[in-house]
Amino acid sequence: MPGISSETINDTSKNPVGLLVNRDEIVKELALLYGRKKLSLSGLGEVAKLIKRMGHDIPTSAVTILKTNNTPIRSKHFHHFSLKKGLLAKLKKGMINKESRVMKIQINIDGTQIFKTNSLDLWPILVRVTNSLDALPFVVSLFIGKGKPTNIEDYLKPFLEELIALQTEGLQFEDISYSIEVSSFVCDAPARAFLKVITGHTGYFGCERCNQKGVYDLYYRCTTFPQLTDCVLRTDASFRAKLQRQHHKGSSPLLDLKIYMISCIPLDYMHLVLLGVFKRLLTIWTGHWSKKHFKHKLGTWERQQMEKRLQRIRLSYPQEFHRVITSFKYANTLKAVELRALLLYIGPVIFKGILSDEKYNHFLYLHLAIRILCSPTMCKTYSHVARQCLQYFSFQFGKIYGINHLVYNVHSLIHLVDDCETHGPLDSFSAFPFETFLGTLKSLIRSPNKVLAQMVRRISELENISEMDQTIKTSIFNPENPAACVSTLRKHLKPNTRKDSYYLCENGTAVEIVGLSNTHVSFRCFTNPRNLYKEPMKSKNIDIFWSDGLEAKQNNLAISELKLVAKCWVIPMSRGCCVLPLLHQA
Ligand SMILES: [Zn+2]
Repeated sequence: MPGISSETINDTSKNPVGLLVNRDEIVKELALLYGRKKLSLSGLGEVAKLIKRMGHDIPTSAVTILKTNNTPIRSKHFHHFSLKKGLLAKLKKGMINKESRVMKIQINIDGTQIFKTNSLDLWPILVRVTNSLDALPFVVSLFIGKGKPTNIEDYLKPFLEELIALQTEGLQFEDISYSIEVSSFVCDAPARAFLKVITGHTGYFGCERCNQKGVYDLYYRCTTFPQLTDCVLRTDASFRAKLQRQHHKGSSPLLDLKIYMISCIPLDYMHLVLLGVFKRLLTIWTGHWSKKHFKHKLGTWERQQMEKRLQRIRLSYPQEFHRVITSFKYANTLKAVELRALLLYIGPVIFKGILSDEKYNHFLYLHLAIRILCSPTMCKTYSHVARQCLQYFSFQFGKIYGINHLVYNVHSLIHLVDDCETHGPLDSFSAFPFETFLGTLKSLIRSPNKVLAQMVRRISELENISEMDQTIKTSIFNPENPAACVSTLRKHLKPNTRKDSYYLCENGTAVEIVGLSNTHVSFRCFTNPRNLYKEPMKSKNIDIFWSDGLEAKQNNLAISELKLVAKCWVIPMSRGCCVLPLLHQA
């Protein structure tokens, strides 16, 4: 029988480091390869057969390699995995703070269409442990059917029963008891209304934060919430007591949990700001908003200039950005990550001199507020500025573009800072990680037959792969661990990729790293940094500036002396360039 016995393998003197000869190690690496490279099951089987022919005694069935759960699924529509099992898997990977005895969890519930051609929807309950080293979401329950789950009580029951038991008894792991704390439910507006059993965002009493009655606009057929100051806010007590009867459509099953019904169900900026308010603004400018009203549509010359600018900055996108905006011709189909790049980074450059001064300044209020709220440091120091900016932005939206635009999303901006004060920067309670995971889940479905059974098998494989994979993404900017910072910097710096070599230093200077030895770093500084904009705040105050370019002179410093705090995006302009610190890792 060909193959290498485990006795041979354990004799490390005969095996150079890194050579895979152990049967279990080969199977594990195959499973990880399947997960990382998204191989097909048959592709995985073929690779396994090839390895077997090379003399290794390994299984060739993908099901065996991936330890697929083949238990028959009773229901066609619903399956509950296990919250406890998912949490234990995260504890095995480790917590950010080893001393922590609290697991902070975020829950996401959202629906998505599985296939373009039929109306089958996927409604998973996803959970992520925000203070675990592995903060990727996992699936707790799964509903597949036409439309949303018909009975919310049945849909949430297994999950809530487990969560309530865990909250009461705690979770035991390696002789330590962990308490489970629900940080937030992160959902879009329709899913929040579904969970809270309240009137939807188009209803008269649809604002989740204040109890004003909306106004129905007969001409535009939408409900607006024009009151932007002195709103009477909802509280956990007023919600539980159903003080405003019209806001409620029944009793939410979430009332059984120990959570604050208002602040624990925050507004998600991915849907509210990016896909809601900012996309509305962009489509008004590009003429995609309405087929009848083109009052605010930009002229042909302006739109051509914007396209030219997009082309100019195409090659400047740092590697953290996976989608490049190529044109505004389909502005209505831009994805949330593209809208984020536009709002937080390239927008002030693209729209400068194209929009009228009034509209450009108005846009900057949203840009500045969201940049402040996305930054872990600025959202603390400048939250009052963000609050004023969003209040003014919403008010001016009605004044510039019409009162009919003061719909739920635009109005809700005035409540957004409250959530940052409770939960921290916007990305700590955004739907982005869940949306990415949902995309992965959808990609696992290979055919329209027995969709739930397919999903359950694929998810069991994902869980097994995740258990085997002990790699944890490290942050490049970890002040606690300078050695890790240098080693990650080395990985980030690639020859001939200047776009990924710009960094902001602790003293506010931006530099281009041009060389890195074991002890020293060579860099060049940007010349003549000045404000890109001065209103609503000088851009240099938030480390955004306009420069003529890089100095010719190279500087040298010991690695420990050049304290980097953020990576930067350097955007080419017709004269010079604009430097903006990145607020996102990927
Ligand atoms: Zn409100």
